[in-house]
Amino acid sequence: MATLKLDHIVKEFDGAEVIKGVDLIVEDREFVVFVGPSGCGKSTLLRMIAGLESVSDGDILIDGKKVNQIGPAQRDLAMVFQSYALYPHMTVANNMGFSMRLAGVPKADRDARVREAARILKLEELLDRKPGALSGGQRQRVAIGRAIVRNPGIFLFDEPLSNLDAALRVQMRIELARLHNELEATMIYVTHDQVEAMTMADKIVVLQGGVVEQVGSPMALYHHPRNRFVAGFIGSPT
Ligand code: ADP
Ligand code: MG
Repeated sequence: MATLKLDHIVKEFDGAEVIKGVDLIVEDREFVVFVGPSGCGKSTLLRMIAGLESVSDGDILIDGKKVNQIGPAQRDLAMVFQSYALYPHMTVANNMGFSMRLAGVPKADRDARVREAARILKLEELLDRKPGALSGGQRQRVAIGRAIVRNPGIFLFDEPLSNLDAALRVQMRIELARLHNELEATMIYVTHDQVEAMTMADKIVVLQGGVVEQVGSPMALYHHPRNRFVAGFIGSPT
């Protein structure tokens, strides 16, 4: 069970507001996509949810509990980044187990969770390899595996597929949809790609200039865009 509530979140950098009062409710097991042009504040918003960036104003609630002052490792979530940030000298298994080792999880438990993540992601044959011997798609799966082993209620993805070629992107979208079902987790997914938003989301949040322009299902946004920006961005007929 993992719900998220953003209550009028504001972020300032050097006196300039880049997130201007965002309200949002994410339901348990929902797949929510933040979409909008480069610089609109998607990553900043996600990083605040993750606890990697402080909020200037407003509250973040996970399962109804205010987490503003709680560090990233203590929030019931895990983030997958665009640049995979794998440790090049460690095997796939150790890359996936590393955060658990830091957290003091016993080796037997770590190994079991790494094996389970590898099964889910079809990485069983690759556990002893180093990242340098993997394809881009395999590296991205390892990065997702590092999140899965933590068994979080909420997964955060920041443009995880933007470094992959078009064919692999399509395949990974299908795989992420399967993961969403299998893990029964809440997922928040950031992209500037309308097609990803339209095909993957239960609920789309359209951002522009640090403001939420509209929230709704792909079909609601397509058929009833609230303004020209949403219509243009989603590709509705106007
Ligand atoms: P997106 O992910 O949608 O491309 P970002 O969240 O990265 O957008 O950035 C939103 C705005 O905040 C941009 O104008 C960006 O320059 C600014 N910004 C992001 N991080 C910082 C930072 N650490 N310091 C100052 N400005 C920042
Ligand atoms: Mg970004």
